[in-house]
Amino acid sequence: MEPEEFINRAQNPNNIPGIYNYCDRWCERCTFTNRCLNFDKRSIRNKNIENLDTENKEYWNELESTFADTMKLILHIAEKEGIDLTKTDDADSQKRDDSEKKASKHLISTQAKSYNTMAHEFFEREKSFIENFENDLNTQLKLGINEGNILIKADEVKDIFEIINWYSLQITVKMKRALSGKFNGEEFADENNFPRDSDGSAKVALIGIDRSISAWGKLQQLFPEKTDDLISILLLLDKLRNEIEKEFPTARSFIRAGFDE
Ligand code: SF4
Repeated sequence: MEPEEFINRAQNPNNIPGIYNYCDRWCERCTFTNRCLNFDKRSIRNKNIENLDTENKEYWNELESTFADTMKLILHIAEKEGIDLTKTDDADSQKRDDSEKKASKHLISTQAKSYNTMAHEFFEREKSFIENFENDLNTQLKLGINEGNILIKADEVKDIFEIINWYSLQITVKMKRALSGKFNGEEFADENNFPRDSDGSAKVALIGIDRSISAWGKLQQLFPEKTDDLISILLLLDKLRNEIEKEFPTARSFIRAGFDE
């Protein structure tokens, strides 16, 4: 960014101070680009910047509508399989006790890493399925069949992959920061009722998990034949969500500048 542009932006009274401290850094999908000093225009491709915040708000609202249905599916499967999603297995619990001093070995970190690996492996495994799906759509486009619907479906799938990719690694990174902060004694830093940085990081991770659950749920709705594979990913994500909420019980109520005010 040119110095002059930076100065102009820094002087914009509309800016929300510190909004970028607890965002997910996905400027292309952010609903506050107009009020953020750190908004990175270079990340915006093929988008109308004027309407970006409004369009992104609609985008996330639409995704959120899938969350409730996906959670119903997760709970249904868990009940059917006799899985208690809120219970920490003894072996897992032991792991947590042994490694509490090291954030990177904490149960939440290992679960987050497992999720990242599972997501990556799913896409590797399904590479040819996805390629065939794309080829089918292209063939139908060439034949002029249902052009509008095909483009919507292609966009939907692209969005789902983008959301899953964006958050899969970020959840691990944010939770490492949250756990490190907590184990460094940060929990005693709120004598003056200052919000804890670890809660802020955990909240960003939780939002990433919620959005990922919705995205996987959408994928399941589009490709019901992949339900068995997707369910194990969803169950792990929900367990991770529960563990984070247990370890950081006040994270959900952390107020992020701009986003939660
Ligand atoms: S608040 Fe939004 S615009 Fe600013 S850095 Fe974060 S994602 Fe980008």
